[in-house]
Amino acid sequence: MANIEHLSFEFFPPRDELSRSKLVDNVASQLASFGPEFFSVTYGAGGSTRDGTRQTVAALQSKGLQAVPHLSMGTDEASDIKDMLDTFKANGVDRLVALRGDQPSGLGANHRLSNNAEALIRLIRAHSDNHFHLTVAAYPEIHPDSSGTMADMQFFKRKVDAGANSAITQYFYNADAYCDFMERCAIQHIDIPIYAGIMPITNVETLVRFSAKAGAEIPRWLQYGLSDRKDNEKNLIDYGVEVVSRLCQQLIQAGAPGLHFYTLNRWGATTRICNNLGLQASN
Ligand code: FAD
Repeated sequence: MANIEHLSFEFFPPRDELSRSKLVDNVASQLASFGPEFFSVTYGAGGSTRDGTRQTVAALQSKGLQAVPHLSMGTDEASDIKDMLDTFKANGVDRLVALRGDQPSGLGANHRLSNNAEALIRLIRAHSDNHFHLTVAAYPEIHPDSSGTMADMQFFKRKVDAGANSAITQYFYNADAYCDFMERCAIQHIDIPIYAGIMPITNVETLVRFSAKAGAEIPRWLQYGLSDRKDNEKNLIDYGVEVVSRLCQQLIQAGAPGLHFYTLNRWGATTRICNNLGLQASN
């Protein structure tokens, strides 16, 4: 059994009730056998999935699963955020992933969000005191909006000083990026748990698109490895599972306190990776 303190799985809110039921009944119940600390549910830019996030969280909770909504400052009004905090609290939610959020697509390339996650954390702490455990985002390969390593680390530290309890990283395929980030955190006396964000590889086009937007590097050797197999889905998925399993093993050996899987609402590759790590399903 791999020695990790934390395992979590991320979903995005499905479009309709049928897809939501399938996600909860099939995907979540399959992954639940690995004993995750929680399932998190993303929040669409500009509040676009406000209802979907809340409904997916409720559906997971109805099956007795620990569900954690993402909440982003984005372009939402403070009053809307306070209403959501009150609703989540009333519904038994005690943990949130607190973010600035992605840029809503209608805003235009020249418009930069003026909010940031630090402001959201301060708002949550002012409104809900310490009710919520707050997890924030971290960027071992540096956030695309950042002017550099130092500035990025200062913004991360400000989130921790504002009251973040833990962090999940953007995904990466180079274990050294995580190790270097952890060393830089130690220099800043940042000692919250920082869980490594893991993106299983199942589709090259989607991965390339996501990575360009998120500022996640696909190393040259991996680009070629994927390209060689792009016309054979089975070979591609087998290779992706092997590469990502090895990455997870390196991270665990390096002392990562936990793993957070970006599942893209699928269980196949994530299940194979968890099995390779010795996180044996109980059924
Ligand atoms: P922040 O921590 O506020 O900022 C990130 C970076 O922006 C900083 O490091 C810095 O480089 C720059 N920055 C911040 N404030 C300032 C400032 N005042 N001046 C100059 N530069 C500044 N997006 C969604 O829309 N919905 C989700 O559900 C979602 N879930 C995510 C989950 C995880 C684990 C991760 C890693 C990302 C997620 N994202 C999500 C993406 C995230 O919203 C984007 O990366 C967004 O661009 C930054 O959000 P943040 O909370 O990291 O922002």
